[in-house]
Amino acid sequence: MSDLRDAAEKLDAEDVLAGKRSAFVLDDVVYLDGNSLGALPVGVPGRVEDVVRRQWGELRIRSWEESGWWTAPERIGDRIAPLVGAAPGQIVVGDSTSVNVFKAVVAAVRMAGEGRDEILVDATTFPTDGYIAESAARMTGRTLRAVPPGEVRAALSGRTAAVLLNHVDYRTGRLHHLPGLTAAVHAAGAVAVWDLCHSAGALPVGLDEHGVDLAVGCTYKYLNGGPGSPAYLYVRAGLQERFDSPLPGWNSHVEPFGMRTDFEPAAGAVRGRVGTPDILSMLALEAALEVWDGVSIEAVRAKSLALTDFFLECVAEYVPRGRVESVTPDAHAERGSQVALRCEDAGEAMKRLIERGVVGDFRHPDVLRFGFTPLYVGFAEVERAARVLGEVLAP
Ligand SMILES: *Cc1c(COP(=O)(O)O)cnc(C)c1O
Repeated sequence: MSDLRDAAEKLDAEDVLAGKRSAFVLDDVVYLDGNSLGALPVGVPGRVEDVVRRQWGELRIRSWEESGWWTAPERIGDRIAPLVGAAPGQIVVGDSTSVNVFKAVVAAVRMAGEGRDEILVDATTFPTDGYIAESAARMTGRTLRAVPPGEVRAALSGRTAAVLLNHVDYRTGRLHHLPGLTAAVHAAGAVAVWDLCHSAGALPVGLDEHGVDLAVGCTYKYLNGGPGSPAYLYVRAGLQERFDSPLPGWNSHVEPFGMRTDFEPAAGAVRGRVGTPDILSMLALEAALEVWDGVSIEAVRAKSLALTDFFLECVAEYVPRGRVESVTPDAHAERGSQVALRCEDAGEAMKRLIERGVVGDFRHPDVLRFGFTPLYVGFAEVERAARVLGEVLAP
């Protein structure tokens, strides 16, 4: 068993991202829930204080111009862009992921044209995506079909208008093959919409490289933007002209201060905006994104895989045989940045883990989820988490 502690020490010593840990507010809890709410970057409180006291308190209305509030959605979108493999000018930040799923799915159906009457959605999706896809289907007069991701290729046809998929499954941590599935959707003449909630900030996405049409994602998981921080919407440059938002607001108007009665969309990603942005949350996110300076997403991916490999190795060693079963794929090509363990009394087990300073989460009915944020999780913590899990599950 001390072999694993030695291994952890060696892995920590070789960790090229180890220096990033000090960019976060952490304590001696092993925090493996960054796939639900990322930890607080140290630069955020001071920035929020400045935004509130000086930008709002002193400059007041002038801040829309002078503090760059008005252009924050595009500016922060461009800050996220390199993390998901997008060139500038294709991402806007604002609203929740749920709202952006709505914009993207309806816009995708409108782009696909009249002859296509079906929307496909990942049958294992995070519920909000499914609910919204169903409503979007009713509103656009299309039929929604829920399909397991492995069967999407077979389900595609000339009837398919749009396909809404998750890059990483929120429950199992399974990574879906974005390049191959996007190509298959395109071969069927349909529009691909990807939800990146569990991949952005954890692994390379390659939106431009793989020709993704539309994508959405949240910023409070691996991007550490804070509770309820605004989500983002990616609209590929070549499709922006045809992006017809179901929520055209004055912020997406070509002339927002023209106060015109007719709607004329702005050019570019800006047409994904709706109303007045949530400036306090948005600027907290902007400060949080500074931790990515000098970080390569490839290095993040390499460490993420090393962390999840090591966790699985430690679990195999410490947890009594048969008490847990990993539902996360072993193959690196199919694994996101979390490990999900099926466990009979998962709810109770997670409560006891948290009491002992190891924070993951529980997903109904029987899954223990452990998220590994490469910027601040170390290998000794991984070893400790698995050891405590073994103790909690000991007969
Ligand atoms: C976290 C998550 C969401 C969250 O949506 P909100 O609108 O921010 O509540 C949506 N979809 C997926 C796949 C998620 O993992």
